[in-house]
Amino acid sequence: PIITYEDLQPEIHRIANGDRSAILSAHPISEFLTSSGTSAGERKLMPTIKEELDRRRLLYSLLMPVMNLYVPGLERGKGLYFLFVKSETRTPGGLLARPVLTSYYKSDHFKTRPYDPYNVYTSPNEAILCPDSFQSMYAQMLCGLLQRQQVLRVGAVFASGLLRAIRFLQLNWPQLTQDIETGALNPKLTDPSLREYMDKILKPNPELAECVRHECSKDNWEGIIARIWQNTKYLDVIVTGAMAQYIPTLDYYSGGLPLACTMYASSECYFGLNLNPMCKPSQVSYTIMPNMAYFEFLPHEPDSFGFPRDSPPKLVDLVDVEVGKEYELVITTYAGLYRYRVGDILRVTGFHNSAPQFHFVRRKNVLLSIDSDKTDEAELQKAVENASRLLREFNTSVVEYTSYADTRTIPGHYVIYWELLGKDSANSPPDEVLKQCCLAMEESLNSVYQQGRVADNSIGPLEIRVVKNGTFEELMDYAISRGASINQYKVPRCVNFTPIMELLDSRVVSSHFSPASPHWTPERRR
Ligand code: AMP
Repeated sequence: PIITYEDLQPEIHRIANGDRSAILSAHPISEFLTSSGTSAGERKLMPTIKEELDRRRLLYSLLMPVMNLYVPGLERGKGLYFLFVKSETRTPGGLLARPVLTSYYKSDHFKTRPYDPYNVYTSPNEAILCPDSFQSMYAQMLCGLLQRQQVLRVGAVFASGLLRAIRFLQLNWPQLTQDIETGALNPKLTDPSLREYMDKILKPNPELAECVRHECSKDNWEGIIARIWQNTKYLDVIVTGAMAQYIPTLDYYSGGLPLACTMYASSECYFGLNLNPMCKPSQVSYTIMPNMAYFEFLPHEPDSFGFPRDSPPKLVDLVDVEVGKEYELVITTYAGLYRYRVGDILRVTGFHNSAPQFHFVRRKNVLLSIDSDKTDEAELQKAVENASRLLREFNTSVVEYTSYADTRTIPGHYVIYWELLGKDSANSPPDEVLKQCCLAMEESLNSVYQQGRVADNSIGPLEIRVVKNGTFEELMDYAISRGASINQYKVPRCVNFTPIMELLDSRVVSSHFSPASPHWTPERRR
């Protein structure tokens, strides 16, 4: 049968609790990879086996030969990549649980990789593997600045990560330039192996310090990446899917450098690569590598009226997909996921020889996303319900709400529009209570959101914007004026269409931000 994570959970729990028998795979499960997709508020645990590392390396090893076809000469310089490890935990049965990239960077495949002129990074392993995210970012930025003339490409895994690095530079350039000027490392960097490495390469360089200071002290940061790292040929970041919202901001800071989306992968399995990486973001197609897993496709037909189908949907093999059609990706992996629904919707755009190529359309059920967090409608609904309990003593309820991922500032943050109904105008909820509502919503959201807020600083405090009474009725009027049916109209739980945003924002009566970080620890709650 075709399955979802929830179907597999009993087996996953057995493995997590220490059952070492061959439950899903004949190979021993070496660790769990924690996905940014969640189940009941916690990261999904994906089983993996040792040999998967070889498959991941195989896919990575194809990226530069492909890039070299389009951008020659990259072996003559370096890549400034902002790469990070995240915290790891152990399951009750003693298996490690950590994100796939943390697992990869900590593996010998990465740490003791042979010298390859096409893959020389400015960041040393000591910085990438430093568990303290401030020290790691600081050292990577400093190394990037010190080697700025050699940098030919700048990147991070996702667009949000690269923008976080730019924000870091905005906040920390005075100290970074002071380090470069004096050759003395910021005392906040206390990690011994990191200090040892940095002490070796950091020498006083007043000329470089002045040059960086000159650029960073300007009010206008447009094109800052191309101004500091003048030899950059492209930005290597994923800007497909939910990350497309960052394209304008990246264009602004890079002065319009090409954006290369090189690969498509997940914790479950690595899928494929972009064989034309210098194409426009909207044109990106990924070619799935048939040796990564067994791939099948569930035809995705938006069920317009919600009628049940006559027969269960049939899976289509990789060789049988049709150009122009949309499918949900279903994988059978070497580590023991059988006919597992990943949740990604892909559209076939064409073929490379006989291999189909796919445009990433979207991930199912994601309403809001800033970084790798994925909040669905049910999670948002629960968060609103929990927060609105605080309004009871003011005889006030939330009559309608919608949301918006505001990425105009770095980091971006969730904005929730609330229309309130108060029975007692003399006793309306004060700012302090609405702030607590923001925090209550954050406490209800999933652990990936909370980790972004607390540990990674990749998501800013949640904001509630209270709108005037009648605003949501106006929203409906607007939708109907544009052709929506009155019978079928539903309040959109997330908005991003400019006229609607403008309507909502023009009706805002007050705005409130979460006053504190939600509670989060790397430990899983279940
Ligand atoms: P995770 O399991 O946390 O590694 O997340 C994997 C998911 O990230 C995939 O299933 C996709 O939804 C998304 N993703 C990964 N690579 C890309 C890409 N190149 N473009 C768009 N979305 C991607």
